[in-house]
Amino acid sequence: MTGDPLLSGVDLVKSFGQTKALDGARLDLRAGEVVAVMGPSGSGKSTLLHCLAGIIRPDGGTVRYDGRDLSSMSDTARSALRRSDFGFVFQFGQLVVELTCLENVALPLRLGGVRRREAERRARDWLDRLEVGDVARHRPSEISGGQGQRVAVARALVTRPRVIFADEPTGALDSLNGERVMTSLVDAAQQTGAAILLVTHEARVAAYSDREVVVRDGRSRQVDVVPAGQL
Ligand code: ADP
Repeated sequence: MTGDPLLSGVDLVKSFGQTKALDGARLDLRAGEVVAVMGPSGSGKSTLLHCLAGIIRPDGGTVRYDGRDLSSMSDTARSALRRSDFGFVFQFGQLVVELTCLENVALPLRLGGVRRREAERRARDWLDRLEVGDVARHRPSEISGGQGQRVAVARALVTRPRVIFADEPTGALDSLNGERVMTSLVDAAQQTGAAILLVTHEARVAAYSDREVVVRDGRSRQVDVVPAGQL
């Protein structure tokens, strides 16, 4: 693929006390691309995702998104950017337990100032697209883990983000539900043109990506993916 990356991290360094979580990691993500970040537990994958998403500030290196340097932005400006341009799916959906699934999906729009009726109309549309429209009025405790993750995907997509950050999105699911969630996530991102940065330690989840990057001891390297037909 050619063209400037939409999001790029260069020479990223981040320590937590004595632990060097990132030690010169780099990663490029182009518009619409799905990149899987792989590597053993504790290698720095989540820290890399958090730095690229502007959730934590690296000690060194730069993160650029759409021509802007995230490290030099104020916390308020980075939060606003996260709300407008990024979507998030984590291992456990992190749905708000007091709200219905519909209200959960509408929440990012409501926080962005969209009126309730309109927010809920768009939320319902995404729940339907992800085939979980039937749980709209349920609370998260009343649905299955797989349904919860599809609701979380709907919530990540409802604002039409340009980048979706997914950290072990299928980590708590069995393989069948994991596949359904991954298919939904990748299809939905394709429909909207969103790029996905996917952290996973599972090869079958990484198989949904266009490209894989392996992180080891806080350093990253690009892996050449063998097309499935040639395996
Ligand atoms: P991975 O996602 O590959 O499992 P992480 O990025 O979560 O790896 O962690 C990398 C290293 O940084 C690990 O040694 C982890 O214990 C440490 N670490 C991550 N976050 C924190 C934190 N908030 N406080 C202290 N240590 C942390």
